[in-house]
Amino acid sequence: MEIDAAREVRTTCPYCGVGCGVLAKIAADGQVSVRGDPDHPANFGRLCSKGSALAETIDLDGRLLHPEVYGRRAGWDEALDRVASTFSQTIAEHGPDSVAFYVSGQLLTEDYYVANKLMKGFVGSANIDTNSRLCMASSVAGHRRAFGSDTVPGTYEDLELADLIVLVGSNLAWCHPVLYQRIAAAREKRPEMKIVLIDPRRTMTADIADLHLAIAPDGDVALFTGLLAYLGQHNALDRAYIAEHTTGFGQALFAASKLDLAGIAEATSLSEDELGRFYGLFARTEKTVTVYSQGVNQSSSGTDKVNAIINCHLATGRIGKPGAGPFSVTGQPNAMGGREVGGMANMLVAHMEIENPAHRARVRRFWNAPSMADKPGLKAVDMFKAVGDGRIKALWIMATNPVDSMPDADAVEAAIKACPFVVVSDVLASTDTVRHAHVRLPATAWGEKDGTVTNSERRISRQRAFLPTPGEARPDWWIIAEVGKRMGFGEAFSDASPAEIFAEHAALSAYENDGARDFDIGAYAGVDVEDYDGLAPFQWPAPSQSPPTTTRFFANGNFYTPDGKARFIPIRPATDTRTDEKFPLILNTGRVRDHWHTMTRTGKSPRLSQHIAEPFVEIHPADAQRFGIGDADIVRISSPRGEVLVRALVTLRQRQGSLFAPMHWTDQFAAKGRLDALTASLTDPVSGQPALKHVAVRIEKFAAK
Ligand code: SF4
Repeated sequence: MEIDAAREVRTTCPYCGVGCGVLAKIAADGQVSVRGDPDHPANFGRLCSKGSALAETIDLDGRLLHPEVYGRRAGWDEALDRVASTFSQTIAEHGPDSVAFYVSGQLLTEDYYVANKLMKGFVGSANIDTNSRLCMASSVAGHRRAFGSDTVPGTYEDLELADLIVLVGSNLAWCHPVLYQRIAAAREKRPEMKIVLIDPRRTMTADIADLHLAIAPDGDVALFTGLLAYLGQHNALDRAYIAEHTTGFGQALFAASKLDLAGIAEATSLSEDELGRFYGLFARTEKTVTVYSQGVNQSSSGTDKVNAIINCHLATGRIGKPGAGPFSVTGQPNAMGGREVGGMANMLVAHMEIENPAHRARVRRFWNAPSMADKPGLKAVDMFKAVGDGRIKALWIMATNPVDSMPDADAVEAAIKACPFVVVSDVLASTDTVRHAHVRLPATAWGEKDGTVTNSERRISRQRAFLPTPGEARPDWWIIAEVGKRMGFGEAFSDASPAEIFAEHAALSAYENDGARDFDIGAYAGVDVEDYDGLAPFQWPAPSQSPPTTTRFFANGNFYTPDGKARFIPIRPATDTRTDEKFPLILNTGRVRDHWHTMTRTGKSPRLSQHIAEPFVEIHPADAQRFGIGDADIVRISSPRGEVLVRALVTLRQRQGSLFAPMHWTDQFAAKGRLDALTASLTDPVSGQPALKHVAVRIEKFAAK
């Protein structure tokens, strides 16, 4: 690609699900600079520390720049032929479910679309799952149970219009900083806006909160089922909305009424006074938005938590209205785009259902697919178990590092090592996952590739290339399509650019159906696919009427269930005790402000390591005393699966009985051990999302021998 030194290129930040617009410029001397795009509706010119440091993370150090086959440099033809022939042979010998793709919320929508199409329409298996399973699968499952579709009802603007923002399991200040900045700015203008933070830890987000409820880990189900009962008891229901637009309210209220206030106080570790303050505020504030994130999703009861929250919004009719609604914020830059193209093992493209025969028929017809998958595939945790026990014999990992990021990471590493054929396409030459690949395929990185991403408010933005393509790197969509062609599916994978793939996806979203109720018809019909290069950020639905009729969903019902009504889900809080005498503490894992995932990019910026330079564990002073630990001691944290050495940070921010440690540092970055070697493969039974925030561990001072 030719470099235009005079031009600023409009693109999108590749980190979190806020999806900020970025203006990137490359100077004549090759220096890259970035600034927030003042015209992008997600950030209006703002960037957080990670976004501002993007230019410091794009050097070619450590890049994978040419294909490798069994440890030696190879040409693209040889590498692609090897991948295609081994996958084809494995499928012929062991059937389509003997192969799998593990993909990533870092992929662009066009990459995701092609990978999903190859696996579900042409291989004939749904064994394609994503690292987004680890961040938002419970929200997807909760949306589908309540709304009949995975649809986020609201927009970021609602956070500025609300009179009450309830933040549940979400350290917005560090994990979605620009959304936090938008709320803080709105609060400056309207000091009457109230903010409640529900989090076991006193995070930086508590600085802005009027009320911080330091809830017991996984106490959210009890808290929100209790709230539903309170709303019923205090005449705070929208009975007209319930009657006209929902089903199942009676059963949900009956289930919620099983727990009295004392029981909720016990289950949540909150006082009855704290509960009363929160419940009263919620009951009397019409414009309420409940924002939730990983603290809700990464739980063995994640889907129930999501539905307990949604139940309260349905019961008050506070959904899809300006300043009101439940709002799940996604972790990764394109978790939402992956959901749109069905890049999960239990979904189909364009928000259709893999278990719905009419939807399968529609997609089969559109793709002219020879062997459409007809049942859900393996979700992430089960996929790696199947790799470990030999059911999956060929695995392709794209743009992610599961050896460090999957729960029970040592078992995942052992499974990958034992797998007969592992392909990794990545930008880096030596992540802990790339090391185990038989075939390594160099992918283009942010700044070098073109495509689209969708942020947490359903807004689609372009990522645009502004850097030359290094070495022999190629875009992910191209690599996948080339393998598809070599597997004998040439015609279906002939799209020659991201623009053509996007146009195909848009056309599929508007493709005629078999009469089944389908909200996605026309969702992209109004998008000018001819002007892909100039595509301005837009929210779906973007129907053919212009301007679009709404950016919010469900204020007037019209849910995507067969009867058009939302479903209340009866929820019963369950007690979940995982600690015991040997492992008496609960470890909560999460992010710090300036790092991202396993630090393969943010670890390159010295500036980003100035904030927090090493791995640590937060521990309450009483626990520190109990286990003989002083501030800054090196401690060993152990679970039945593994151990890590980190520095202790004794702080009242942490609840007694719980620990918090960031997930970023791996052996590559001078930590001793990987945090995810401690975590368990326990998952939510509905969503399959791992419970990464509730791991039983013990802690002891480390004494070097
Ligand atoms: Fe990037 Fe998220 Fe920061 Fe925005 S808030 S600049 S999308 S990391």
